[in-house]
Amino acid sequence: SLVTRFAPSPTGYLHVGGARTALFSWLYARKMGGKFILRIEDTDLERSSQESVDAILEGMHWLGLAHDEGPYYQTKRFDLYKEVVAQLLAEGKAYKCFCTVEEVDAMREAQTAAGEKPKYNGMWRDRTDHPSDKPYVIRFKNPLDGVVVINDLIKGRIEIANAELDDLIIARSDGTPTYNLTVVVDDWKMGITHVIRGDDHVNNTPRQMNILAALGATIPEYAHVPMILGDDGKRLSKRHGAVGVMQYRDNGFLPEALINYLVRLGWSHGDQEIFSLDELVQLFDLSACNRAPSAFNTDKLIWLNQHYLKTLPPEHIATQLAWHLAQQQLDVSNGPAITEVIKVQAERVKTLKELVEVSRYFYEDFAEFEENAAKKHLRGVAAEPLALVLAKLTELTEWTTDAIHQQINAAADALGVGMGKVGMPLRVAVTGGGNSPALDVTLQLIGKTRTLARIALALE
Ligand code: GLU
Repeated sequence: SLVTRFAPSPTGYLHVGGARTALFSWLYARKMGGKFILRIEDTDLERSSQESVDAILEGMHWLGLAHDEGPYYQTKRFDLYKEVVAQLLAEGKAYKCFCTVEEVDAMREAQTAAGEKPKYNGMWRDRTDHPSDKPYVIRFKNPLDGVVVINDLIKGRIEIANAELDDLIIARSDGTPTYNLTVVVDDWKMGITHVIRGDDHVNNTPRQMNILAALGATIPEYAHVPMILGDDGKRLSKRHGAVGVMQYRDNGFLPEALINYLVRLGWSHGDQEIFSLDELVQLFDLSACNRAPSAFNTDKLIWLNQHYLKTLPPEHIATQLAWHLAQQQLDVSNGPAITEVIKVQAERVKTLKELVEVSRYFYEDFAEFEENAAKKHLRGVAAEPLALVLAKLTELTEWTTDAIHQQINAAADALGVGMGKVGMPLRVAVTGGGNSPALDVTLQLIGKTRTLARIALALE
């Protein structure tokens, strides 16, 4: 059956490009009823870190991309890689190369000077006069002629002549396996049927296919996903701002919005923009992925975030929002249920971060009024309406939106003024500013005690 994998090198956080690759692999496995494996390619000991592994796992978890197997760590599989190298050597499909670094460099320089493409010339390929006391690397015996054909599921047919490929080092002089070897062994032993990865790896593919063929392994299908560009047309990188998945969480995005956004970076289904996860699992296909790079568009991500804020069940958003509230040290036990706050605020904001900012007054008292709102609606104009509305609200035995609404209306009627002349001072008095959801709902959520205390304070 179908097996895909995500194989990050743990040298940083989970970035947008990696997350999209992971998503495509995950979706494809889900769609086809297959298996999705997570493999940590941590053989570069200098650049890999546990911190980065944790960050990648955290990002995957936040996005909801659960793996069916793993995480496997390549550093725990060295015995297997060494066995395979030994097997290739024993079968004459690999050989010891005793060239020094200087010799290889000199070879390259001479080739470059002669106008040729630099390439290891295979000088140890067929030699048997091996020195016994010199270090060596192990090279794969790449076929000398013929072509390798990749029927890439996204890019289409790609042909590479074997004459272009040199004999790749598969084990270093200290015996450690190299990157291309470990990928090949793992894709083989893990039974990967579909390799979905960034197209920065497309040059490795013919080499990997040759090694797989030498091992008698079934060659998987390949799908190379085009890169993501920043808004300046250059490859997306830290220069463009937030590129780590968890940074998007920190900035107040919902995982649903990021998933929907990422899938559309390189995949489309007609002109549909919004996809539930179930729909994606139904509709996703590698053949509908773009061959051209896609450009990152923050406005579209914000638009999607607003869509999900408005449409996801408040209970669902609450789990994400709770994290942000905690970040801001807001004590939610000291105020309304956050699902109630979500119901009234979600459609008024772009992000969860903003939602927290405009909802502080539900959970804590504010220190100052917004200057403009206070100037316009409070100072010098509000004493009479506020005093009256305070009296009317104090009378209430039931703190419901209907009852609150009636008392505000009654105060305006008694004063012979429009609703706004009572409502705006009241809004500034209880929320600190001139923007809030409908007053009756806002007051109801703030609670009676707090509302009355804040009006009294504004009257001082
Ligand atoms: N470890 C590689 C990377 O992070 C991916 C290798 C692969 O998918 O084959 O770029």
